[in-house]
Amino acid sequence: MHFSDLAMNLKASEIRELLKLTTMPEVISFAGGLPAPELFPTEQLKKVDDAVLTKEGREALQYGTTEGYNPLRKQIAVRMKQAFMVDCDIDNIVITSGSQQGLSMLAQIFINPGDIVLVESPTYLGALNAFKLCKPEFVEVPTDEKGIIPEELKKILEKYGDRVRMMYVIPEFQNPTGITWPVERRKAFMDLINQYDFPVLEDDPYGELRYDGDKVPSLKSMDTKGNIIFLGSFSKILMPGLRIAWMVADPVIIDKVVKLKQAVDLQASSFGQRQTSYYIDMFDLDEHVAKIKALYKKRRDLMCESMKKYFPEGITFTYPEGGLFTWVTLPEGMDAKELMPKVLAKNVAYVPGGPFYPHGGHANHFRLNYSNMPEDRIVEGIKRLADVLKEELAK
Ligand code: PMP
Repeated sequence: MHFSDLAMNLKASEIRELLKLTTMPEVISFAGGLPAPELFPTEQLKKVDDAVLTKEGREALQYGTTEGYNPLRKQIAVRMKQAFMVDCDIDNIVITSGSQQGLSMLAQIFINPGDIVLVESPTYLGALNAFKLCKPEFVEVPTDEKGIIPEELKKILEKYGDRVRMMYVIPEFQNPTGITWPVERRKAFMDLINQYDFPVLEDDPYGELRYDGDKVPSLKSMDTKGNIIFLGSFSKILMPGLRIAWMVADPVIIDKVVKLKQAVDLQASSFGQRQTSYYIDMFDLDEHVAKIKALYKKRRDLMCESMKKYFPEGITFTYPEGGLFTWVTLPEGMDAKELMPKVLAKNVAYVPGGPFYPHGGHANHFRLNYSNMPEDRIVEGIKRLADVLKEELAK
């Protein structure tokens, strides 16, 4: 069988491979980025399904437009204003089959092989995997505990300016670090990128999950040139299984995305879009989000407190104000991937940090998720992890 060059270069995502190992019920998995399934609104969805099928059964089961179901696009425009301070209307919005599809399509409309794509160092592995298919050259922009460092970005822009074709950032509760850019950083960032013309993808699936601290304006809300493309998703505030997400951008960009989407999958699920839209009409999404936040805050606190209590000296971790992840830093020279077999032997799992950097290295980090495991397992898992780390440090 002859496969294409693209197919020959496909690699299984390290996270997906890990998740396979961690689906065994005895494993305490901090590896995936999974929401808490006990909060999925299954009972409400039964009522939603009944209403959709009764009122719009034929349309829900029929093909629909590529841009998406208009009532849902309108609801998203309202949410963009309320939750992200962005003024937009439905012409700026396309519904995608998950934000992952949005990332993949944007790479295809902006990147030719060899073009430079700027990313935070580290960044979301799933985005790197989507972009890689278009063969860019990644340039990593250094970050600190407040996100991207404007002075470093300035230097990179001076060096590569005209060759940069796209930038990808997650300014809110970043995957994998949990870090949020404060407003001053955002302003400095916008001042810099406004001097150029490349698109900036602002990926924000976690923005509504803030547990403490003040809300920070989205980059899109500060965008005066139309260079920011905002990606939002229902995966973390409702459920990921429906695969319903959205993109907000200038109509010229939306036009290209819609044409590409026609070739990719025609449209997001007609039924799924109506399920989401009817849910918002029939129930209170804000109340649901409040429940999610209360539970995740408790779990974040417990994970961070347990790490403080049980982890040996010399190991640091981020304290995220929201989202799903904390990022652990081991002493220089330790390798989180090499430690994996010992951790898995204790039926605990995390994601080693190396793959979140396009050029590798940085092996002394790992990412922990706190949204998916019940409280007692969080404490037990951190204790077991602490035992492995103590043994290693004692060597
Ligand atoms: N972006 C980031 C930063 C993510 O963490 C994820 C999922 N974990 C996605 C995009 C993809 O989300 P979706 O379910 O909407 O495809």
